[in-house]
Amino acid sequence: MGLGASAAVVVGSFPLGESDRVVTFFTREFGRVRGVAKAARRLKSRFGGALELFTLGELVFFDTGRSELVRVDHFDVTHPFAGLRENLEVLGEAAWIVEVVARTTGEHDRQPALYGLLVRALRAMEVAPRPARVAVCFGVRCLDLLGHRPRLDRCVECGRAYPFPRPSLAEGGLVCETCRPGLDAVPVAPATVAAFARLGAARWEEAIASPVGRAGPELRAVLDTHLSRLIGQPTRSGRFIREVRRLSEVSGERR
Ligand SMILES: [Zn+2]
Repeated sequence: MGLGASAAVVVGSFPLGESDRVVTFFTREFGRVRGVAKAARRLKSRFGGALELFTLGELVFFDTGRSELVRVDHFDVTHPFAGLRENLEVLGEAAWIVEVVARTTGEHDRQPALYGLLVRALRAMEVAPRPARVAVCFGVRCLDLLGHRPRLDRCVECGRAYPFPRPSLAEGGLVCETCRPGLDAVPVAPATVAAFARLGAARWEEAIASPVGRAGPELRAVLDTHLSRLIGQPTRSGRFIREVRRLSEVSGERR
């Protein structure tokens, strides 16, 4: 209860009534915080464009303790991350990152390591030539921080040591061909398993610079599946990304 202040990233928002906006922040000090920004949608709002998705700033809020929603008093922009909104592919991948953070964390559940990872990933994505790779590196580390890193060294059902032929990936980790029937598991290429393990063990800078080759798209899909399981439903941004990719393939064919 009372006044709170923290560095924060805007991870979601929707309009409320005539002129207000409900904004979800992921803060360094308090984890996820949802609040009402009064008159945020008026033309001359004191928030200006500060409440756009991805914006990093200093949040000051008041928690009455009577509602889940806090009152947003100030949000001073530190870094707008405008570059993330200039290209559909980058926008989709960055939206996936903030959606995962917003939907896998609880209200006021302080997670400074995840906050650090979020900011690092958005910064990397702003300059990276391959946004999907940054999303992959984020996804691998995010699963780790949430305590859901899948086991990749053996079959989680029978304990058989990996490598074995035709591996699949279930919620807890790899499963072998014998154990797979009846499980919610997707077949993965050995190269994808190797890339997953390698990116998880590498330092951040090494990971985002390291090429994953043909394993990239499958690893990207596997991470979306895993995080969607944690959320309890498919990610909205994952669907957006697939749609953007499909459209760019169609226009590529016409050229
Ligand atoms: Zn097995």
